[in-house]
Amino acid sequence: MRAVQLTEIGKALTDADITIPKIGSSDVLIRVAAAGICHSDAHYRAGISKIDNLPLTLGHEIAGRVEKVGAHVTNVAVGNRVCVHYLVHCGNCEFCVRGLEQFCRRGQMIGKHRDGGYAEFIKVPGANAFPLPDEIAFEAGAIMMCSSATALHALNKARFKPGESIAIFGFGGLGFSALQLARAFDCVDVYVVEINPAKLASAAKMGVIAIDARAGDPIEQIKESTAGKGVDVALELIGSAKTMRQAVLCLGPLGRAALVGLTAESMSIRPYTELINKEAEIIGVSDHLASELPALIEFARSGKLRFPPETLRVVDLDATQINAALDAVQDSIDHFRTVIVPSSDK
Ligand SMILES: [Zn+2]
Ligand SMILES: [Zn+2]
Repeated sequence: MRAVQLTEIGKALTDADITIPKIGSSDVLIRVAAAGICHSDAHYRAGISKIDNLPLTLGHEIAGRVEKVGAHVTNVAVGNRVCVHYLVHCGNCEFCVRGLEQFCRRGQMIGKHRDGGYAEFIKVPGANAFPLPDEIAFEAGAIMMCSSATALHALNKARFKPGESIAIFGFGGLGFSALQLARAFDCVDVYVVEINPAKLASAAKMGVIAIDARAGDPIEQIKESTAGKGVDVALELIGSAKTMRQAVLCLGPLGRAALVGLTAESMSIRPYTELINKEAEIIGVSDHLASELPALIEFARSGKLRFPPETLRVVDLDATQINAALDAVQDSIDHFRTVIVPSSDK
């Protein structure tokens, strides 16, 4: 089968012709219909995130059709449309048995620790395949398994409830999903904090209260719009100590700041006046859980979570096209997502 692989860190991905994987009794073989090209894939290629075993087929945002099932697989059948949960876990460790598989000690990320979806076929455990309703295009089914799933996990970790207000710091792919999901939760007011004019304009077009952080202190602006109260939940999706601190300071009483962006910087908080007084909480968010995916899929099926076709770019399963897309993703400032749709005529 055709696959596009990372063979050397820091070098371009290459076209490869490899054997179709053999499945075990608990696995499924999926014919890939769509595979999202993600920021993290650019990091793997560049060596920013460490890859142990090469060559490796990248790709962790995958949707397709079940081609074969192992004897013990009961949740999906041959011919089913499916999307893939990217974390393969052991199922037996202290975390897995509590449904907290993102901490599994033997967990493997598809497209990082084992071959991913930049290929015609992929083998995954049956438990990682989730039925994809006909209403959801394969392209959307693929890309929502990463940033949208994390956005939903962030809202769940922040215990976001109907009727609450939210401030979203950063309006990239995560923010785009977080905004739609917050609305699906019946949120009252959404504030989007950004410095990028194009993103501010697109947020305003989606009917949120766009806060231009270049025009003045975003905390003051949020406080002003909420009659001094602050918001119930703040999501930090950028990965900077400055915006993390702002996310905490814009909270009202009993507010929760969920930190999703990654940074090695230190952040400072004055405990008494900025946290204890208002019983605010700072919550770390990492990845998502398999148990959250059915709700995410239902939000997409019912049209509450949408990826307009004009925001998707399609490339073939071809190293030259994929490398160019990875170059572009590194400095992207819009909501466009590139998805690999393997052509069937090669
Ligand atoms: Zn991803
Ligand atoms: Zn485990």
